[in-house]
Amino acid sequence: MPAESYEIIPSFIDGKWISIKKEKHTNVYNPATGKIISKTPMCGDEELDKAVEAAEKAFFSWSTLPSNKRAQILFNYRALLKENLDEIAEIISTENGKTLSEAKGDIQRGFEVVEFACGISQLSKGESLAEVAPNIDATTIREPLGVCAGISPFNFPAMVPMWMFPLAIACGNTFVLKPSEKVPLTAVKLVKLFEEAGLPKGVLNLIHGGKDIVDGLCTHPKISAVSFVGSSIVGHHVYSLASKNGKRVQAGGAAKNALLVMPDAEPDSTLRAIMSSSFGCAGQRCMAGSLLVGVGDVKESLKEKVSDAVNKLVVGDPIKNKNTEMGPVIDGNSQERISTIIEKVENNGASLINDGRNLLNNEGYFIGPTLFDNVNPNMNVFSEEIFGPVLSILNPKNLTEAIHWLNKLNYGNGATIFTSSGASAKEFRASIKCGMVGVNVGVPAPMAMFPFSGWNESFYGDLHMQGSEGVMFYTRQKVVLSRWDDSYKYKQGW
Ligand code: NAD
Repeated sequence: MPAESYEIIPSFIDGKWISIKKEKHTNVYNPATGKIISKTPMCGDEELDKAVEAAEKAFFSWSTLPSNKRAQILFNYRALLKENLDEIAEIISTENGKTLSEAKGDIQRGFEVVEFACGISQLSKGESLAEVAPNIDATTIREPLGVCAGISPFNFPAMVPMWMFPLAIACGNTFVLKPSEKVPLTAVKLVKLFEEAGLPKGVLNLIHGGKDIVDGLCTHPKISAVSFVGSSIVGHHVYSLASKNGKRVQAGGAAKNALLVMPDAEPDSTLRAIMSSSFGCAGQRCMAGSLLVGVGDVKESLKEKVSDAVNKLVVGDPIKNKNTEMGPVIDGNSQERISTIIEKVENNGASLINDGRNLLNNEGYFIGPTLFDNVNPNMNVFSEEIFGPVLSILNPKNLTEAIHWLNKLNYGNGATIFTSSGASAKEFRASIKCGMVGVNVGVPAPMAMFPFSGWNESFYGDLHMQGSEGVMFYTRQKVVLSRWDDSYKYKQGW
């Protein structure tokens, strides 16, 4: 069917919604049915220039507005997000495939960044010290950077863009957002609500596209900073290209996260946390548990319990069946890629306990929850991101061996230990080489007031998203030294 038969996703430039007719489009699917629901236009240099120019034009008046006035608009935005929660969740579920409660969690995490950003007056205060030298006072001021850009992935259509633009804008910057072409509808709704909240024109712009737009954002001379979240290969490319072009960059990448279970772990809560971490959002979280490390003799009973729970998991269309616990993966390419990985892992000697390929012939892009046993650190499946509902069990003899194995991973997003021993938790916390650590927490993704702190190939840059690092990323410091006449001292007889 031609592109004109579908709604063309609109862009938002200089306060106007425009449907840009392009020859090239990407299909947006409902992954639960496999049906096309709209088309994303692949914008080009013309739209990019217009969006950046609008953002540049809006910068002066926005950045000079007192921070408490900017915060008022964020407070309005917060209220509108809350009012529209159900509608946004349905949009996310339809274009991404996650369940409605997962979609609400996706919004909630972004919403918390908006709440954090409402405190911008306090968050962006500088420091001052009188008499750093005779008659000289020193003050630091945090100033916004200018036009910032955000490039986001498909898996968190609300949360990840909201890691970026609310805080950047609260800091006084203007913004160009390029969401994933696979899930553009959520971004449209988020931007519409910010417009309704009273954001002046040009402060937030939305354009769509793929590699061309991303490269354009990384090289555009009027863009000061780029925030990226997605795969490591693209993250590394964005980091290199944008920093070579003089921009500040923060780029979150892929992951391989471990769930380590000690024999003294509390069994029921641990099982619930494993299931939600590994199969929540169909395993398409950058903090999803992908390696289940059963230490010593806990492994056999753990395998049985997880396998039983996998058999009971309700997989389906989250909109049609409200009891759905796990939805589809994002598209046909992902489905095929994950199914090929399962085949290879099986051929390479791991034992397939639960095979999710039984759903391949269903309507939509489903892969059922899949469990492998007898995985070891020499297998590709140990180190490569799958980004699907596939969990691999390993069996080190003790905690020291487990940590030694996990520290071979190139990624460094998350790792969790399940234990009732403070000593084991402390050893794990101190020795594991990754940026977000859980102790009896299946998805140790930090809240908005803390940085989303990936390490190694899970992050390129210095300052992470969220928290005070987010404020630092979107501002630069000016240090002012002031000398004033000291004759008042003599007048007052000092
Ligand atoms: P992706 O890298 O394919 O796409 C991310 C963005 O980059 C999209 O906006 C896309 O349009 C653009 N893009 C894609 N290919 C490009 C190219 N060749 N050149 C320039 N731009 C390109 O990622 P995805 O499939 O949308 O998302 C899944 C990945 O994101 C996973 O690897 C996951 O671990 C990662 N992720 C990481 C975090 C984190 O915080 N570290 C959070 C969420 C997702």
